[in-house]
This record gives sequence, structure tokens and C-alpha cells, in this order.
Amino acid sequence: MRQDSEHARPTETHRFILGLRDAGKLVRDYTQNIDCLEEKVGLSTDLHKGAGNRSYRGVDCVLHESLRRLRCSKCSGTHSRDECSQETETLAGQGPPCPGYANISDAKTTAKKRTTTIGTLRPDVVPYDELDPRADSISAIARRDLLLRPDVLLILGTSLTTHGVKRLVKDFAKVIHKRAGKVVFVTS
Ligand SMILES: [Zn+2]
Repeated sequence: MRQDSEHARPTETHRFILGLRDAGKLVRDYTQNIDCLEEKVGLSTDLHKGAGNRSYRGVDCVLHESLRRLRCSKCSGTHSRDECSQETETLAGQGPPCPGYANISDAKTTAKKRTTTIGTLRPDVVPYDELDPRADSISAIARRDLLLRPDVLLILGTSLTTHGVKRLVKDFAKVIHKRAGKVVFVTS
């Protein structure tokens, strides 16, 4: 999937969202997509930038998960694929070791200790039965965005079947209806 997504190109919709950002009209783009096309078009997806404020532009696009990143099973740190560059292992279904432990030399650590202390990396995608490790940062950003009382909510290409997405859409729609704004639902 990741190899396919690397060749995928952003769509008119991605460029439309970028246009809103550049015109200063985008509060936030929340997406369930994991193909990272938002990054390709030039929207920032680094959650560490936070919600931002009047003088500082926060993250443009909140990604719940990403095929381009790897997450450590022990420390929950995320790493780019380039940083780990263990394509063969990953494709063979083996998790490469977490680079957070790169300084621990193999000579000093027995194979047994390595397996217990060093986390392995897996794609940064959350299965339905697991908690999203980003949930807290994402809801902090959403709470702030709700306080900004946006006047338009565009819901694009989702079936609204995922619980978290349904919740988010309901919360925003409520705030927007209250101020007589517009909620637009475009199905794919
Ligand atoms: Zn780690």
C-alpha cells in the first residue's frame, strides 16, 4: 500500500484545501486518509505544531495515521521510513529495531536482552481494536478549533462509519449550526 501511495498524486480536492489554507480560510483539515497526499500538496501534518494561535500557524492537516511513518512498539515514538531504511525487513514482515536505541551496541547486549529492551517498528496505522496513541493531542486541537466557532464544515468522501469521525463531525456540526453556518456533506 505504501509503495502504491508513493506514486499517487494529490487531487483537485487536496489543492482546493491548500487554496483555503493559503487564503487564510482553513481552520483545520481532519483526515482519515493514510496516503499522506496532504503532505505532498504542501499541507503540514506534524501534530507537534499543535493547534497554533493568532501569531503562529499550527498544523494544517490532522492525520490519524500514516503509511509513511513507523511507530515503536515500546516507546511509541514515530520514525520516518527513510530514517530506518530497512525496506527488505519491513517487506518481509519483520519490524526493524527502534532507532531510539541505536546507541546500544550489539556487542554489549545479548540477543535476549535486545528482544526485551528494544522496541520494533511497525506501520503507524491503528487497527480498530487498539487505542490511537495520538487521541489526546488530536482532541486537544479539536477542542480549540471548536472554540474558534468556524462558520463552514465540509465533510468530504467519508461514509461516517468510524466512531471517532462521527463524533468529530457531530461536535463541529453542532457548533456551526448554532451560529447559523453551513454544513456541507459531499459523498464520494
Ligand atoms: Zn522506541
